[in-house]
Amino acid sequence: MLYNFKRLALYVLNHQMYKSVILWEVPVIGVGLILIFSKMEFYQLTFKMQDNSREELNVFFLKGNDLFRLSFAGTSLKCVSPADVNPLLAEVHVSSSGEHEDGRKLYQKLLDLGYYWPTMETVAVNYARKCYPCQIYGNDIHAPAVQLHSIITPWPFHTWAFDLIGPINPSSKGYTWILAATECFTKWVEAISLKNATGPAVANFIKESIICKFGIPRRILSDNSTPFINVNVRELLALYDVDYVKSTPYYPKGNGQAEATNKTLLKVLSRMVHEEPKMWHDALPVALWAYRTFKCEPTKVTPFSLVYGTEAMLPAEILVPSARLALDAELDNDNLRMLELEALEERRDRAKKNLLVYQRRLSRAYGKLVKRRNFEEGDLVLRAAEHIRR
Ligand SMILES: [Zn+2]
Repeated sequence: MLYNFKRLALYVLNHQMYKSVILWEVPVIGVGLILIFSKMEFYQLTFKMQDNSREELNVFFLKGNDLFRLSFAGTSLKCVSPADVNPLLAEVHVSSSGEHEDGRKLYQKLLDLGYYWPTMETVAVNYARKCYPCQIYGNDIHAPAVQLHSIITPWPFHTWAFDLIGPINPSSKGYTWILAATECFTKWVEAISLKNATGPAVANFIKESIICKFGIPRRILSDNSTPFINVNVRELLALYDVDYVKSTPYYPKGNGQAEATNKTLLKVLSRMVHEEPKMWHDALPVALWAYRTFKCEPTKVTPFSLVYGTEAMLPAEILVPSARLALDAELDNDNLRMLELEALEERRDRAKKNLLVYQRRLSRAYGKLVKRRNFEEGDLVLRAAEHIRR
């Protein structure tokens, strides 16, 4: 990347992005240095000067009117000017696409979106720590490792884990239930709010939101069986030859996935609507969007990218144009799309590997806590009732 770094220094000063700029050239040893001071930190730019050109040694470059930094992974990050920092954080963490992630994850998300400023990590961590909804809806410390039972499936959209959440108090315009389905490979989630959890409603959801959108699954799982064992659902599943697997408290295989999804989904939802808790059904589609565009721990990628092969454009990127908005304008759209599709297979393979590693790690940790109990016929045991367990 070739450029005139005097022009860069002037640009930074003219736009009052940072307090001062020091330009330092040492032609004798062929090195140039720019220090750009912001309030607390400074960007340091080093250049190697060759005959007529100046080759970049360090990580900053100017493109059009924007300042970029090359990340260690080689991607371009757009430098955010101090005035844009707070609106951007509010958009990413709180507003429409925000999942109220913790500080580390917020920092990761900003990086993924292609943003940079010198104090980004500290600021992100502090921002999340001070967020009020985050404080009151924080994670349970004793939350069980529910993802232990998540399972590997042979191809995307093979297995969906269903769960019915509710009755939810307070109701939202008469809606008291959320019916959620998580695809076990991509972790894509579909959900609707329901006034009544009836057989036809569940069958309709399976048909419209799963089969018509993602094709016929091989298997569906659920643990609260009542709305699934009814004539409407049975007929539908028989018609498309879909297996139904019921996981019981005694046989908890598989449906840990649905419970993990619900926990996250409800957390996102309750933080989003904490000012108007009776409007949660309105916020559900946006909560789903947040969930789908957020990297999930087991696969290390967003469900959106595993399904569509590209990342979703998020509101924050419109507010403060991100690296890809500013840079990709010049790229050929067709070629870009082909590249992304090429990468999709690889991304899915990588996600599968991450999932395996994650599960192995989880079961090792879990194994240390497990105490084996053996029962003989005739032993007296206590049975945990479903409504207490949930
Ligand atoms: Zn928050």
